[in-house]
Amino acid sequence: MIAGKKILITGATGQVARPVAEALAKDNEVWCLGRFGDSGAERELRDLGIRTWRWDMAELTKEGLDGLPDDFTHVMHSAAHRGDGTDFDASVEINSVSAGRLMTHCHRAEAFLFVSSGAVYAPRSQEHLVREDDPLGGRMPWLPTYPVGKLAAEGAVRAFGATLGLPTIIARLNVAYGPHAHGGMPILLFRRMLAGEPVEVPLQGQNWCSPIHTDDIVRQVPLLWNATTVPARVVNWAGDDTVGIQDMLTYMAELTGAEPRFSPSEVYRATSAFDNTLRASLIGGCEVGWREGLRATLRAHFPHLVKESGDAVQH
Ligand code: NDP
Repeated sequence: MIAGKKILITGATGQVARPVAEALAKDNEVWCLGRFGDSGAERELRDLGIRTWRWDMAELTKEGLDGLPDDFTHVMHSAAHRGDGTDFDASVEINSVSAGRLMTHCHRAEAFLFVSSGAVYAPRSQEHLVREDDPLGGRMPWLPTYPVGKLAAEGAVRAFGATLGLPTIIARLNVAYGPHAHGGMPILLFRRMLAGEPVEVPLQGQNWCSPIHTDDIVRQVPLLWNATTVPARVVNWAGDDTVGIQDMLTYMAELTGAEPRFSPSEVYRATSAFDNTLRASLIGGCEVGWREGLRATLRAHFPHLVKESGDAVQH
């Protein structure tokens, strides 16, 4: 962990960056930027000694950051404008211009981390472990603006990192999960199963992913800052385990006594597992295995369903 630094974090009301902000605030001066539509989250952050600053990425004027200190040593840019699925131009503009504004404002920082997504990769066969040099061009039929916005922002981050000489890393995140916020995709799918709604799965094989627990994310952010370069480096950011979504949900059903419900379909939310060779060489391995991570996460979100021992609560 790092100490005595002045850290700026965006997206800190979200599932990924919030635990990072909370952990770093113990030994550093942490500022969180966002809209804070949920004033409860802002209050909770402030109660931990974190400074909050109102910034809407969709307001693209330079003045948006005027008055904000510019002597941050480390930046984690995790906020994303996901878009409404139809306005591609807005997704490109908001995500790329805001990244450029933020990097310009923080051009004296020691390290800038941009949280990107595996959604930028072009679809591949389910079993393929995606590498950083695989073809780009992500498709998400349920939210097509999202991969476009992430890729556009990556372009801006590369341009500003290079021209400003700002040491930067673009970390393409896989499926994040943990006790905070909505818990991540595994918990969202589990909630659907609990509500009696079957989860779509491929007609054949499995939908694979490399889930990463937020404890590993928290531990790895300072390591990623240490791995920044000019021009920016791109790295896959995922857990060490390759896990089928169906296996994951079956395991959660076993732990809670819920009934696993799947609907084999040609249309499902495809994910992919990562080749983690580069990440492992730069910052090492993960510490939380998927089974223990999911067990702890389930206990945090559904204490009435999972006992301390990890067994299902009998009703
Ligand atoms: P959440 O959806 O949980 O949170 C999104 C964050 O973005 C919120 O803190 C929100 O802050 C902020 N935000 C959205 N729009 C704006 C805006 N116009 N101006 C300022 N802030 C804004 O996201 P996650 O924590 O799940 O994801 C964090 C990052 O990780 C994102 O960049 C995402 O693309 C990436 N990622 C996440 C994955 C995951 O599994 N969770 C997987 C792959 C990538 P507020 O509403 O307070 O303004």
